Amino acid sequence: MLHIAPPLLAWFYDNRRTLPFREDPTPYHIWVSEIMLQQTRMTAVLPYYARFMEALPTPADLAACPPDRLHKLWEGLGYYSRADNLRRAAILLTEKYGGNLPATYEELLALPGIGEYTAGAIASISYGIPVPAVDGNVMRVFARLYNDRADILMSETKKRYTARVREELPEDTPGDFNQALMELGALVCVPGEPHCADCPLSERCAAYTAGSAAHLPVRGEKKPRRVEKITVLLTHCEGKWLLMRRPEKGLLSGLWQPMLFEEELSEAEAIARLRGMFPQALIHAERPLPPAKHLFSHIEWQLSGWIVHLDGNGDLPVLPDGYAWAGTGNMEDYAIPGAFKAYKPLLLDEGT
Ligand code: SF4
Repeated sequence: MLHIAPPLLAWFYDNRRTLPFREDPTPYHIWVSEIMLQQTRMTAVLPYYARFMEALPTPADLAACPPDRLHKLWEGLGYYSRADNLRRAAILLTEKYGGNLPATYEELLALPGIGEYTAGAIASISYGIPVPAVDGNVMRVFARLYNDRADILMSETKKRYTARVREELPEDTPGDFNQALMELGALVCVPGEPHCADCPLSERCAAYTAGSAAHLPVRGEKKPRRVEKITVLLTHCEGKWLLMRRPEKGLLSGLWQPMLFEEELSEAEAIARLRGMFPQALIHAERPLPPAKHLFSHIEWQLSGWIVHLDGNGDLPVLPDGYAWAGTGNMEDYAIPGAFKAYKPLLLDEGT
């Protein structure tokens, strides 16, 4: 044990950033902010957090929020399953816990979208329960404190580091301690070259002594992303664009996107598929779309396709469920994920 709590907490009380959820650390505030902060930087999260709390100030508001509205509030943050899980959990809270987050680590952990880190953060910060909250920042700090070259992507390493955090955790201020570790990782013990000269733990840090901090933590090889080819048909008719809703399960579930096929198709093949949907209309490809790429955590989408004109002979063809015609007047009603960022300026333009 390194006895890091006293110097770490003293540093934290002098240096901590003022953050809206820190000023009023209710379980709901900590929960929503921690979910937003997964995969997203603090500066990007802050305006989303403010907008979210203004629109949905309680778990009951979140539970009652229609998915499309929630996706709009989340639009641009990415990883939309985080928002869907928040809503599913909020519905459970209203049904089971009177609209409040439960006050035990185990019950928090059982809620959709809440893993060990988030349960630990809510339990310790909002309820003062002495449990660790170990995220990537904390893993980095502990790999350096112990000059430990174990692969931090291995679950065994995380278990070991969590045990080390637990032995350092003060019973009376677990929330401050966990936040202090996260803050140290965010401000001082940063990835790459850490700012050891400003660190309250340098006297206890084995990597600092060994001069190895910049090479830690060790991260094993990740599996390469699976490449998927996507054929997009940006289809317009009478000044509107054709949108389709994604299936309720899986990647980007329930969000809206331009007409597309999740495979590589030639122009003739893609147009023939579209004709199958609109047998009465005249359809032709006007010009190719610029190729684009989008990275998910395990998948890489490579998008290409065409801008397509559908001649409805003065009318917009009637669409089956799950499809919509959208134009400049109502495009903003549809949450379109960042995967289509390259084509969004075209969609926001009058149907070409
Ligand atoms: Fe990180 Fe440097 Fe502090 Fe060690 S001394 S914990 S490497 S910032």
